[in-house]
Amino acid sequence: MLTVLEAINLSTEYLRNKGIESPRLNAELLLAEILGLKRLELYLAFDRPIQENEKLSYRQSLQRRGKFEPLQYILGHEEFYGLEFIVNQNVLIPRPETELIIDHIKSYFSKQKIEKVLDIGTGSGNIAITLAKEIDKVQIEAIDISAQALSIAAENSRNHNTESRVRFLLGDIFSEEIVESLSKYDCIVSNPPYISLSDYPDLQIEVKQFEPEIALNDKSDGYKFYRRIIEISNRILNLNGTIFFEIGYSQSETIAEIFNSHGFCDIKVFKDHSNIERVIQAVRCTH
Ligand code: GLN
Repeated sequence: MLTVLEAINLSTEYLRNKGIESPRLNAELLLAEILGLKRLELYLAFDRPIQENEKLSYRQSLQRRGKFEPLQYILGHEEFYGLEFIVNQNVLIPRPETELIIDHIKSYFSKQKIEKVLDIGTGSGNIAITLAKEIDKVQIEAIDISAQALSIAAENSRNHNTESRVRFLLGDIFSEEIVESLSKYDCIVSNPPYISLSDYPDLQIEVKQFEPEIALNDKSDGYKFYRRIIEISNRILNLNGTIFFEIGYSQSETIAEIFNSHGFCDIKVFKDHSNIERVIQAVRCTH
């Protein structure tokens, strides 16, 4: 009978031959999930025999990964800011660099009052739900154009007991009717689609073939959502309210200009752990 160690070794080779990065890590994580173990617990179970049904599930998982499907979609979950989020192909997989936006919102609002937040393009709900957990008493509205994404977000919100604090709205922020239906917020946060039409084809195959294009490609110059959100902010953001955006590589200058030309002040840009500018923050000024 096949043991855990043999299965890991065989599947590592399989994934390596398919060209998957970190094949052993992938093989271990997929097997651990199927056996209901933590990855490190596999090391104490090297001699454990693999049952027929486990072998079957493992083979299916490996085949999916071998076709470059992201590991997180196969596992069905991903961790964000220490919380577990359910994911599937209808939502973007939460990224570690997006955790930065949570840190900056938390630190900014440790000094000022924040009652209402709007999260635009909530996807799996990771930002909205994490903020609800991290910031006392805050009320969050989270909008997305995809009903399938919102059903995942709602499930995540239930799992984290944030249902009374996070309200999900279905809609397109490019629709005037939707903007009219929104209230006024102290803070708007968004990790919008910011890959331009021309850069989209260069994305990694895992991303391009499996993650929702609608969450990534703005089908324009990469600034379409930033422009729109800043333009509508006089209707939906309180005076002295703050916008936090996740931004892509080399986008900060253009976005700062858009903020400037719409009367925003205190513009700040923050770098991520790879030294890439990743978060921009600006205040809707009174003057
Ligand atoms: N808000 C989600 C995230 O930050 C989804 C973003 C998106 O789909 N563009 O991961």
